[in-house]
Amino acid sequence: MSGVGKGVTTSSLGKILSARGFKINPLKIDPYLNVDAGTMNPIEHGEVFVLDSGLECDQDMGNYERFLDVSVPAENYMTSGMVYKYVIDKERALGYGGKCVDPVPYISEEILRRIKRSTDKTKADISIIEIGGTVGEYQNSIFFEAARVLKLKHPNDVLFVLVSYLPIPNKVGEMKTKPTQYAVRAINSYGIHPDIIIARSDRPLDQKRKDKLAFSCNVPVKNIISAPDVDNIYDIPLNFEKDGLSTTVLKLLRLRPRQEDLKDWRQMVERMKTSTKELRIGVVGKYFKTGDYVLSDVYISIIESLKHAAGILGRKLILDWLDAGDYEDKKIDKLAELKNYDGLLVPGGFGERGVEGKIAVIKFAREKGIPFFGLCYGMQLAVVEYARHVAGLKRAHTTEINPKTPAPVIDVLPEQREKIAQADYGGTMRLGAYPCELKHGTTAFDAYVDSSYKLQANGYKLIHERHRHRYEVNPDYVVTLEKAGLVFSGRSPDGRLMEIVELPKAQHPFFLGTQFHPEFKSTPLHPHPLFVAFLKSAGAKK
Ligand code: GLN
Repeated sequence: MSGVGKGVTTSSLGKILSARGFKINPLKIDPYLNVDAGTMNPIEHGEVFVLDSGLECDQDMGNYERFLDVSVPAENYMTSGMVYKYVIDKERALGYGGKCVDPVPYISEEILRRIKRSTDKTKADISIIEIGGTVGEYQNSIFFEAARVLKLKHPNDVLFVLVSYLPIPNKVGEMKTKPTQYAVRAINSYGIHPDIIIARSDRPLDQKRKDKLAFSCNVPVKNIISAPDVDNIYDIPLNFEKDGLSTTVLKLLRLRPRQEDLKDWRQMVERMKTSTKELRIGVVGKYFKTGDYVLSDVYISIIESLKHAAGILGRKLILDWLDAGDYEDKKIDKLAELKNYDGLLVPGGFGERGVEGKIAVIKFAREKGIPFFGLCYGMQLAVVEYARHVAGLKRAHTTEINPKTPAPVIDVLPEQREKIAQADYGGTMRLGAYPCELKHGTTAFDAYVDSSYKLQANGYKLIHERHRHRYEVNPDYVVTLEKAGLVFSGRSPDGRLMEIVELPKAQHPFFLGTQFHPEFKSTPLHPHPLFVAFLKSAGAKK
């Protein structure tokens, strides 16, 4: 079922196999009909993750990149929508020579063609393909059919891993294996048998449960891996190795195991666990609530990036979710409470709800010297705030919210406007990696100096960061804002697009916003330099 941890399992499996010296290629299959994840409300499906290529995809791709420290190509993601669209478009173009185009075999063959295209491109030793959804449901069955054929064609090179959930009903207090038994039966009906079962549960599996599953599911007992809940997801690869998972997989794939190297990873996890000195960060957003539950999944990459940075600084991260709506209408008391935070972060977002609350929080952070980090919308709103309260453009706004504002400091560039007018929303965003030149002597420049980003010959640093937005800082207002004291410390190489804004260090310990999403490029072994700089400054506040 969703939420059981297939993405983190896939990533962790990839991590332990890559630590044995194999090149890993992670792929994700999502059963929904959306052609990509770009048009989905984050409350529906969690964060929309963006690849270097600009593909908008499932948050699991973010897990793959974080665990494996790689940039995953667009070929490694497919949805039912993508596959069906391709086949239907091909049929309309007479691509099947008059045949009757049935889902089997035409859709399943297209799925296999995509898998092959990805493995050919990456030339990896092992591909790990995650099939989303739940075994036995209607949505993903065609992918199981493709998986069956894959095994049929390559009997020695394919193995199946079932990630299953073992509930412990409150009143009974005993771990139940029955749902897993039925899941195996459901997979069997596709002509597939799992080689390995990853048993997710609150607690570790005991021997009795392992024996029971082995007997009833026809899976060797050593291939049943206990995967209890953990506080820190980066522990999972290490837990898998306690059950010898990489050795089991390599044996089943007939690959000779090489020396294990998880040293860096172990140190990183250890450091995260042993840090005790707290750092309190408030994230001010609006996509938190689903019914009565808080949905932090929407900001998963931001949470992980903060954890990575806190880890490397040896600090314990305390994160609070602050609802932007609470700061609207000049709620002075509420704002005053923000003084308790070491740092405030305003993430990306869309639309009107919560905007004035976010602007009030940004103003407070700027005036009170609280470290502030704005991401995408958070950066745009920092520009609006500065324009209104410092540059004297009282009614400044983004045209996303007020198309008639007399001071459109954030606006769509002319080339985008045409597409929006045609309601062609699928293709109107600036997506994926774009270059950015950093200005000497700024907070941003200094942050990247600390990291391994490459210096350009002219002394400027050229970085590449990922984007997902329609609006930009309006070039017509750059000079006015600069005169009022705002520093544009990162720009596109042609100078037209503002990528990073900040306040001079003499004025504020850390007030910085990025038009891009740095959270998409942070990994636990290589925390993102701007997140590290933000938390360093937040740590100094205390
Ligand atoms: N809504 C803003 C835009 O479209 C910001 C988007 C974002 O934060 N990802 O430009």
